[in-house]
Amino acid sequence: MAFQSLYVHIPFCLARCNYCDFLSHTYAEVQQQAARYPAALRQEMRMYRRYAGELVSVYLGGGTPTVLPAEELAGLIGFIRDTFVLKRDVEITVECNPATVDAAYLQKLRAAGCNRLSIGAQSFLDDELRRMGRLHSAADIAATVAAAREAGFDNISLDLIYALPGQTMADWQHNLLAALRLQPEHISIYSLQLDNDSPWGRQCEKGLLAPADEDLEADMLAFSWQLMREKGFVQYEIANFARRSLRDYRSRHNRMYWQREDYLGVGLGAASCMFLERWQNTGTLEEYVSALENLHRPPVEKETLTMAQCMSEVMFMGLRQTAGVDIYPVLDRFRVDITRFYDHELRPLDAAGLLEYIDDAHNIRLTQRGMMLANQVFLAFIKEDYEDIQYRALPDDTIDV
Ligand code: SF4
Repeated sequence: MAFQSLYVHIPFCLARCNYCDFLSHTYAEVQQQAARYPAALRQEMRMYRRYAGELVSVYLGGGTPTVLPAEELAGLIGFIRDTFVLKRDVEITVECNPATVDAAYLQKLRAAGCNRLSIGAQSFLDDELRRMGRLHSAADIAATVAAAREAGFDNISLDLIYALPGQTMADWQHNLLAALRLQPEHISIYSLQLDNDSPWGRQCEKGLLAPADEDLEADMLAFSWQLMREKGFVQYEIANFARRSLRDYRSRHNRMYWQREDYLGVGLGAASCMFLERWQNTGTLEEYVSALENLHRPPVEKETLTMAQCMSEVMFMGLRQTAGVDIYPVLDRFRVDITRFYDHELRPLDAAGLLEYIDDAHNIRLTQRGMMLANQVFLAFIKEDYEDIQYRALPDDTIDV
């Protein structure tokens, strides 16, 4: 067992957005701990180095990683390059927010080996951005993309959020078209999910803010699929699109998740998954930093999945991809034939036109209709009767957490 994908969580932002429930702190409020944080990350990575394979993907996400000084972030990338073995064409992504970086900052990241930028654009309407609590304008997004090009980035992804409270179809069309005008290599669209831990979530709960209408949300998604195809993008997942090109611009990091490959997450609250073991670091900043300063692993919540729970994940994560789930790699890795294990569930979904078998029937994927109803389809793969999987774990299928 060896992970090939590394996620590094940087849990700091300049300010908190109104819709966000991610684990992140306002940088100015935790500066003392933030200064100790990169050393803690380095220590945690050293502790897991022996479980690493050749890394194909490194992702520095947040939070807003670019609130750290450029030298600090570039230094972390350099540390990762020195500590792990990286595949020659490794994808190294940094998430950044518009107006937190300029060309000089981005040149330092590029020189350190970062070769992909994921920019949190979210909207191209200044009024929408202001209501969301974002600190940038639409013009800042264009300036950040221009700075990234100047710094030599040729793989840029833009994130957009749809189904915002009060957002109309015309607003969403404007946002998507504005993003396309910047000619990114990749676009991710996310429907707004409100949690009670965010200011907007609390307002919704009290009836002070109305979430988007479900039909409108579905129309926005359908419009996006259609437009992205027309504009020369390949949809490779429900909400992710890569520019059609001889070069593969699909996010390797995300595909590792969807294909349920092993990954290590380091940092505050970071989650890791290795075979049937899954754990999440403490979400308390002081606890995380001090544990590592004392050369201890940070406290974790750990769970060992049953093989059938794992199969549920294989299905509902794999089916998010337009390529679907290939039964052979699953059989090879987990020793489970999903067509037999899910025979009872697959038949009615197939009959209802929600999924289909392709590539001589060894690949199962959702139809367009199935994609639109994906959340309902996924429920079919959560089974309680887990006894029927015959699986014998190999002795080295454990990790010391
Ligand atoms: S949405 Fe992003 S920038 Fe805004 S608070 Fe959350 S993590 Fe920070």
